[in-house]
Amino acid sequence: MAEIESLYRLPLPGVAAVANGLRLERRDPDVVTFLIDRNINYTNVCNVGCNFCAFYRTRRQKDSYTLDYEQISQKIRELEEVGGTRILLQGGVNPELGLDYYTGLLRHVKAHHPTIRIDAFSPEEVLFMEKTFGLSLDELLDTLIAAGLDGLPGAGGEILEDDVRAKAAPARIKSDDWFRIIDAAQRKGLYTIATMVIGFGETYAQRARHLLKIRDQQDRANALYGGNGFSGFAMWSLQTEHTRLHGKAPGATAHEYLQQLAVARIALDNIPNIQASWPAQGFKVAQAALYYGANDLGSTMLEENVVSAAGGHGRHRATVRELVRIAVDAGFTPAIRNSRFQIIEWPDAQDVLARDAQNPEAERAVGAGQ
Ligand code: SF4
Repeated sequence: MAEIESLYRLPLPGVAAVANGLRLERRDPDVVTFLIDRNINYTNVCNVGCNFCAFYRTRRQKDSYTLDYEQISQKIRELEEVGGTRILLQGGVNPELGLDYYTGLLRHVKAHHPTIRIDAFSPEEVLFMEKTFGLSLDELLDTLIAAGLDGLPGAGGEILEDDVRAKAAPARIKSDDWFRIIDAAQRKGLYTIATMVIGFGETYAQRARHLLKIRDQQDRANALYGGNGFSGFAMWSLQTEHTRLHGKAPGATAHEYLQQLAVARIALDNIPNIQASWPAQGFKVAQAALYYGANDLGSTMLEENVVSAAGGHGRHRATVRELVRIAVDAGFTPAIRNSRFQIIEWPDAQDVLARDAQNPEAERAVGAGQ
């Protein structure tokens, strides 16, 4: 714990060099990966009301929505057209929805889009379902898996220290529940990812404890669940535009983001894949992050509504061409992966970069051959 904390007080170039050395050891040193996917937010109605969230609405607000299955199918068809392989399906905690909506949605997606992986419902949504539908956590997850669930995104991690969470979002899922749900998901063989958001005004000690808790959970999953721990670690800085935290939380500069990423690479010795975050940090900082411990550029997303509602860099999506360019210009070979970080395609970088960025056909041609 003290060792991790001390890293924050060392000059960044030295910490970055160590982190980059570990990244080169733990993953293919020449390769930077990314995923073609879409983040579909099926509802923006939410009764949790996090102070840092500009995405949610109450059900009485005019611009509140809940997507029906056909609207979701249409979004998935657009993803299929560009060779996408996975959807992230996340929403607010909408008290109007019954268990049938969730299971019906999973079944609908599996029936109409059989090649698409569904990583759905953050621990916050699972906690709501557990409390509302009268099922134990095991029964609930079994029900969702039987309907088609492939994985559980690790959203809602932020800083897994309840002091920090109480100020940022008093009604938010507590850290014990977050780990309890993630642990059950990992035990059942589901995909999970660990997340972190900095900039709430948390201390270095709180950040270090967050990392240690994630590392301990990974050790536990490796020992007990045949290695089915977190597939990766994703981290970004708090965005507060249009939120109640605007002007009340410090956020994080690019320097702080890169420092935290490097510290995470050093501390998380049992999680090989560390993502750079372009939606929150922008393409340029995400590219720099490839030398601070990151080996992955996340995903193209096609659509993102939560981070972008609170600021970010005004980006909802990245094209394959943009992510290929980031990787190539930084000196890496780009590779398209699945959500388990297995490489499924090697795009011809020169061919991708030679295409007209404004030509949508060029975008469709990449990644379509899987
Ligand atoms: S972050 Fe999620 S849980 Fe919190 S208010 Fe927004 S949609 Fe609801």
